[in-house]
Amino acid sequence: MIARVRALLLPLALASVGGVSATAAQEDVGAGSGQPLNAALAACDRVRFRVALDVGHTVEQPGALSARGMPEFVFNLLLAERIERALRAAGFDRTRLLVTDGAAKPSLFMRVSHATDIEADLFLSIHHDAVPQPLKETWEYEGRQLEYSDRFRGHSIFVSYDHAQARASLAFARLLGLAMKARGLAYTPHYTEPFMGPRRRQLVDAEAGVYRFDALVVLRRTRMPAVLLEGGMIVHREEELALAAPERQELVSAAVVEAVERYCATEASELSALRRARPAARTRPVVRLPAILGSGIPVLPGRD
Ligand SMILES: [Zn+2]
Repeated sequence: MIARVRALLLPLALASVGGVSATAAQEDVGAGSGQPLNAALAACDRVRFRVALDVGHTVEQPGALSARGMPEFVFNLLLAERIERALRAAGFDRTRLLVTDGAAKPSLFMRVSHATDIEADLFLSIHHDAVPQPLKETWEYEGRQLEYSDRFRGHSIFVSYDHAQARASLAFARLLGLAMKARGLAYTPHYTEPFMGPRRRQLVDAEAGVYRFDALVVLRRTRMPAVLLEGGMIVHREEELALAAPERQELVSAAVVEAVERYCATEASELSALRRARPAARTRPVVRLPAILGSGIPVLPGRD
C-alpha cells in the first residue's frame, strides 16, 4: 500500500527543483528553539510516551487538490508515515498512525475516539494547505485544467483555546513552530488577512507561526493536547514539488521529533500525574486501511 501511494507522488518528487537542503538545515538543529538538547531531555520516558499521528482526510474525501491534481490525503499520508518512522527511530516506539476512512464528519469523531482509546499523550494532525476559491487561478497540466495559486507558501500550525489542555497544546505548537523555523522553514502569514473570510485566524504566536482555531473538532474534542500542522501549500506550483520530495518530508519529520522530545521532557512530571489519574482503555481499537489503498487489513492494533 505504501509503495502504491509513494508511487503517486514520485513524478512530483522527481520534478522537484527546489526546497530546503536537509544537510544545510541539520546544521541549525536546535537553533532558535531555546537551549540545545541536553540532559534535561532524559526526563522524557520515550518508551511510554505515545504520539497519535492523525492523517488528515480520507480516501473518499481526500481534502484539497494540489496544483498538479494530487489529493491532499496522499501528501498527508506520506508525511505522517515519515514522521512516524522518525519518531520510532528516536525511541518513541508507541507512536501510532491514525488512518480513517469514510465521510469527513464521522471520520473526525473516529479520530478523536481512537486517540482516546490508545491513550495518546499528544495528538498531531497532519494536513496540507490550499487557499480559498476566489484566490485560485487555472492552468493546464498534462492535459488537465487544474487550479493553483502561487500567492502564498509555507506551513501553519493551529491550536484550539476551547480545550481543557489548551496551554499544553500551545506549548507543543510553539516548540514545533520553532523547530520548523530552526530548519529554515517559514510559516505563511496570510491567515490574518481579511480576504480569508471565515477562514481568517488569530495569530497567537508570531515567532513560531501558531494560529488559533477553536472550533476544529480534532483540536477541541481530543482529551490530550492537540495540534494541527498544515505542512505547506500544495496549490502553490513550486511548493507542491518541494512538499512531494523526501528531503522536505525529512526536514519536517526532524522538526516534529525535536518538538516531541522537548515537549515530553518539559511536560514529563505533569504527564506522569495525568497517567496515574487516567482509567485504562476499555477496547482495542482498530483503524482500517482505506480500501482503495490496500486490502482492508487492520493496521492499528490498539496497544502494545
Ligand atoms: Zn486538510
